[in-house]
Amino acid sequence: MSLELTIGWLYPTLMSTYGDRGNVITIQRRAQWRGYNVRVLPLDQNATGDDIKSVDLIVGGGAQDRQQEIVMRDLQGAKAGAMREKIENGTPGVFTCGSPQLLGHYYEPGLGQRIEGLGILDLVSVHPGENTKRCIGNLVIEVTATRLARDLEEMTGGKAYLVGFENHGGRTKLGKVEALGKVVYGLGNNGEDGTEGAFYQNAIATYSHGPLLPKNPFVADWLIQTALRLKYQQPISLKPLDDTLAMQAREAMFKRLKVTPSAITAHM
Ligand code: GLN
Repeated sequence: MSLELTIGWLYPTLMSTYGDRGNVITIQRRAQWRGYNVRVLPLDQNATGDDIKSVDLIVGGGAQDRQQEIVMRDLQGAKAGAMREKIENGTPGVFTCGSPQLLGHYYEPGLGQRIEGLGILDLVSVHPGENTKRCIGNLVIEVTATRLARDLEEMTGGKAYLVGFENHGGRTKLGKVEALGKVVYGLGNNGEDGTEGAFYQNAIATYSHGPLLPKNPFVADWLIQTALRLKYQQPISLKPLDDTLAMQAREAMFKRLKVTPSAITAHM
């Protein structure tokens, strides 16, 4: 029997401003290359709470403030409950930029009213105003979220450094939720406290576009492995793939940004 994976893709049209669809493609391809059947289910305005409950993995991308507001209005009631249930029950997911802002308590845009979030992640995001500089540029972080850092170290044999690109006006402050990592290069959650993203149950929240997963394929493998283990309740080990090109691209980026040599060698 071939194992199956359903990827739920949050609002593909409204929340694809920053190329995060690359995360969906990466998960899909890397699972297919291992012989798993993959289905991508758009979780948009036509989706129901039951659709959300049916997926094995969730991907949410970035969006502009206007689109975020539309999505937030749509993600009420049964849909909000289904999202909460999935994340609380350990469904893995990768949520980028606008998506974590939605999963937090609220997002205050540069212009207009506060948008209430789902309150699943204990964080708040505030855009300080249209005249404030956006946080734009390359981003490198060291994963510090304890369980994820340990899992990724086991998978790769070294400390996990993630390479990406940030582009956000909102600044995020974490409450009791664990940070995903600490900033090695770039600004991260708010440019002040050195934190980047958040990690809760098996949900990875990050400001890192890039998109994130092609640049850090071991994270895609962690998501696939976690999703299959949860679904099939059996040990799953993924066949290794040839990631030479991705690793070379990472090395080139580390060199260009002059980040520590341990980061360069960690995943070679
Ligand atoms: N609208 C949000 C911000 O500017 C999210 C941007 C994004 O998703 N890249 O903070």
